[in-house]
Amino acid sequence: MKCGSCIAKNRRELYRLPFSKNDNPNGWLEITTHCNLKCPKCYRGCDRDDIPQVHESFEDITFNIDELIRIRNCQIISISGGEPLLHPQLHRIIAYIKSKGVKPWLHTNGVLLNKELVISLKNDGLEGIIKWLYYKNMIRQARILILGVLEEYRNQGIDLCLYAETFKNALRRKITRAEAAYVMENNEKMRHIMKKLDAKPAKSYRLYELYI
Ligand code: SF4
Repeated sequence: MKCGSCIAKNRRELYRLPFSKNDNPNGWLEITTHCNLKCPKCYRGCDRDDIPQVHESFEDITFNIDELIRIRNCQIISISGGEPLLHPQLHRIIAYIKSKGVKPWLHTNGVLLNKELVISLKNDGLEGIIKWLYYKNMIRQARILILGVLEEYRNQGIDLCLYAETFKNALRRKITRAEAAYVMENNEKMRHIMKKLDAKPAKSYRLYELYI
């Protein structure tokens, strides 16, 4: 058990809850606005053409690291971007954080990661990697469950509105492929609509009957 004076000696390792900007075990560093992905609605604007792509200078970064340690008392510094693996000084940045007795962590989209790179970053002093899957997790495919309208509402343009809205929503969500619900081979009307929508038959199923 630690006595009061031990705790007092190690008070720089203690944090008040809730964490605040200047009393927080984690410091956040954004070292670049370059990225090799363009995730829609990127938090750094990397998906936009009007945001300049710049690497922060090593001098500015080390100044920010020193300030984070001084003001925030952090034990971890999370290196983020953009994509921090694109920063030409990343190895030096990691080594600098480590030399200050703070744990460097890397936040990456993981596209450039490979075994050799991970080993060399570890040798620089990297303590952890957080791999974000913003782009890879984006849903690009959908299943359309409703294609037709009730008979009493047909031939009034309602079905056209349904298809137009479905297309509009798919485009808005960047869906690039959709699988339509089952359409029976003898459902001429539905097959005609599918043809008009330029949908291609993907799979066909056959029901067999066996009399014993
Ligand atoms: S990987 Fe991250 S920084 Fe790059 S575009 Fe996606 S959200 Fe933005």
